[in-house]
Order: sequence, then structure tokens, then C-alpha cells
Amino acid sequence: MATVPDSAENAVRCVCGECPSKPAELKSFYCARGAGGSAVQHRGCLCGECPLTGDYDLWGDYYCESGAAS
Ligand code: SF4
Ligand code: SF4
Repeated sequence: MATVPDSAENAVRCVCGECPSKPAELKSFYCARGAGGSAVQHRGCLCGECPLTGDYDLWGDYYCESGAAS
């Protein structure tokens, strides 16, 4: 698993905004930017369907809770 560069190209591909578990906060793109600090309701995580998961060999989920991929 690689770290995910916090680039504009990557940020626009993040699907956290469509996720039912996303905390109600402005922050997103958690695999690169880290957790937001808000409580996370586990209603499913869309990271497995995100193109960046394949691009960067990610295997985790709920980065909004656990923090950035590393
Ligand atoms: S892997 Fe998850 S946190 Fe990272 S860009 Fe995709 S949807 Fe967002
Ligand atoms: S990291 Fe996963 S659970 Fe959290 S908002 Fe993004 S897709 Fe949803």
C-alpha cells in the first residue's frame, strides 16, 4: 500500500461525497488528508469502489475514521 498524493487530480476522483458513512463535515479525501475528527457511523464505505484504491494498491477502508493510508 502506498501513500496517496494529495493532488487536485486525485481529490476530484474521491467518492467519499457519495458515501452514506461520510461525517457531516467539509473535509473529504481522507486516504490522503487523514481523519476529520468527527464520529463515523458505519453504514458502508465506498473506498473499495474508488479508482484510487486500484491506482495505489489500497486495502483499507474507513479512512475518515482511521486516518490516511500509509
Ligand atoms: S479511497 Fe476512499 S478516501 Fe480515498 S479517494 Fe477513494 S473514496 Fe476517498
Ligand atoms: S473513507 Fe470510506 S467510509 Fe469514510 S467517507 Fe470515504 S468512502 Fe465513506
